[in-house]
Amino acid sequence: MMDWTNLIADENWWMEKHFTPGRGGRRITKTVIHHNAGRLSIKGCYDVWQTRQASAHYQVDAYGRIGQYVHDSDTAWHAANNDANATSIGIEHANSGDASSPVTAETLEAGAHLVAAIHRHYDLGRPAWLVNVFPHNHYTQTGCPGHLAGSQNSAYMARAQAWYDAMGSGTTPTTPSPQEDDMALTEDDITRIAAKVTDGLRIGPSGQQATLASFVHAAARDSAAALRAVEALRADLAKVASGGVSADAIVDAVVARIKASR
Ligand SMILES: [Zn+2]
Repeated sequence: MMDWTNLIADENWWMEKHFTPGRGGRRITKTVIHHNAGRLSIKGCYDVWQTRQASAHYQVDAYGRIGQYVHDSDTAWHAANNDANATSIGIEHANSGDASSPVTAETLEAGAHLVAAIHRHYDLGRPAWLVNVFPHNHYTQTGCPGHLAGSQNSAYMARAQAWYDAMGSGTTPTTPSPQEDDMALTEDDITRIAAKVTDGLRIGPSGQQATLASFVHAAARDSAAALRAVEALRADLAKVASGGVSADAIVDAVVARIKASR
């Protein structure tokens, strides 16, 4: 479990190269946000940086676990900008899938929490975008950090501020994390889930499978709505189910598949 107060990560994989010891007398003034442009594990980042002349201080994986590679007091090579590197802490985030995919709800929550913890620890001020929290593409031409600077930016920053405020009084945010509502699956994920559910359950005629597939398809677009809809649709699903498979079994399978894919 990450120690947010003392900034001790779940896993440490200390780099022995591709960073600069110390900060050249500079002070930490900001955090810089990155995405993996892929879904890397904590160890996966370490492996990539063994052969690439790059590094970051932290990685938040797709399950919200945090790895550290470069000590905060040292300069990581993440922003393609010497001045920015010397004055920032670089945070990588795993995408949920390929480079174009958003981050998972778990990654968003843990990443925002980490930003808040760093800003508290180093007295960087309340996290504010383009004030003391910057995207990688502020310093160089890059698609990084993807959705964290786009569709997920406001949710990410709202959470960073909520955690920052809560940590100031030794509590946790009173507003719930946007866990369920923020899930976004790729078209591929949705098709794969629908196929697995319908295949796995073998619920009879293709027309019924198509109905269930379209339900999964619609539901998977928004898992909070999906989980609410599942309850509302229990009765309707009973009409879809046949061949000895109960509506409850279908509902459970759909929910399990949606959760497993996140
Ligand atoms: Zn980056």
